Formats: sequence, structure tokens, C-alpha cells
Amino acid sequence: MGITSDHKSRKNITRALFQGVFLLVFVFLALQGRLQLWILLLGLGILGGVFFGRLYCGWICPMGTVMRLESWIYRKLGIQRKNPVLMNEDRKNKRYVQLLQMVLLLVFFGGVIATQRFGIRINLILFLVLLGSGTSLVFKEEAWHRICPHGVAMSLTAGVKKLKSKKLIIEKESCIGCGKCEKVCPNLAVVKEEGSNIRSIVTKDCLTCFECQKACPVHSIAYR
Ligand code: SF4
Ligand code: SF4
Repeated sequence: MGITSDHKSRKNITRALFQGVFLLVFVFLALQGRLQLWILLLGLGILGGVFFGRLYCGWICPMGTVMRLESWIYRKLGIQRKNPVLMNEDRKNKRYVQLLQMVLLLVFFGGVIATQRFGIRINLILFLVLLGSGTSLVFKEEAWHRICPHGVAMSLTAGVKKLKSKKLIIEKESCIGCGKCEKVCPNLAVVKEEGSNIRSIVTKDCLTCFECQKACPVHSIAYR
């Protein structure tokens, strides 16, 4: 079963509220110079990935919030952003993207450990948020979502499928293969099934943002 327009606006408002509150917490901690506390939330987000997938990315992450705002502004201005050539889902590019993901993952988490261990006063989290938001000024959201070290770490825990609670799924019987869900997905998590136009959702990449569900004209996307 799909959602009514009432549900859509309730989901929009609830998500915007969550994102707004966590963005304020992030700004507060940054102003207090205590942003390292965010690492705790980040750690919980990564561990929680086992149960909730990349919910942190879609509902809590300050980068995700700023990027959502950027996308909204670009949509209003009618400006189309592109993906870097590397991100085109050409299979031969996939291994380069995976390599980039691993390098950034190691650099970021290695950097966090090193700064804590040696008391270096560089705030890598703030740096990463600025980098992600800056990237999205030029490229589509998914360009950063695919390589973000936090997101990649969460995709790894989200890949442990057995414990996952609710997730977004496409009901194949009613999907008409229009591709609207794929177009609005900010993380290339909606893919075509082989040999057909029917779509399915790659759970480990899904940010639980509900954009696909809102876009589906025949209410084929369920959350259960
Ligand atoms: S699959 Fe749907 S809910 Fe998941 S990230 Fe894409 S648009 Fe958002
Ligand atoms: S928007 Fe709905 S009908 Fe269209 S491809 Fe996606 S799930 Fe299928």
C-alpha cells in the first residue's frame, strides 16, 4: 500500500524537523568547539545501521540536511547538476568508486583516531561537512552520498540484512516501471531489475528519505 498526500506532508514535516534539530545541535557543538562529541552520534549511527540502515544519513547528518536544502534551491531555480564522469553507473567505473570509498574511509577514520591519539586540533568532522556540502554545490547529491566515509561505513553495517527492521520495498505486482522513483533517489539506491523496467531498492544504499515513495504514481513503494 502506498501513502496519501496527508502522509506525504506529515513525513516531509517530520523529516525536516529531525534534520533541523540535529543541524542546530551540530552548529551548537561547533560553536562550543566540542564537535568531537558528534563522533558518539556518528558511532551510534554506524552501529545502528545494522537495524536501521542509513537512517542517520537521511534524518540526522548535517551534511545530508545542507545537501537537501541545496537540492531544493537548485530545483526551485531550475538548475540541473551533473554527476562526475566517474559516478556514471558504467560498471567499469564501479571499481574506481569502490577504491575511492575505501581510501576516503581509511583517511577519515585513520585521521579521527590520529587526531584523538596525538591531541591534534583539526576538526575533521567539520572539514568533512564543508567538503560534502561544497561538492553538492557542483554535483548531484548522490556524488557525495556514494563516497562519504560516514555513509560508506553505514552501508557496510546496513549490509547485515538479517537484523534489519523496516525497509522500503517496491511491490513488483503493481510497479509500472515508470522510473520516477529512480529519478528522485539521492543515492542511486533504486535500480532496474535485469531484463525489465521494474525497479527494486538496494537496502544498504537507501537513506530512508521516502522521496521515491512520494514520487511513485501508483503507490507501489511500501515501508515494512
Ligand atoms: S530508495 Fe527511496 S528512500 Fe531510499 S534513498 Fe532512494 S529515494 Fe530515498
Ligand atoms: S515510481 Fe513506482 S511505478 Fe514507477 S518504477 Fe518506481 S516503483 Fe515502479
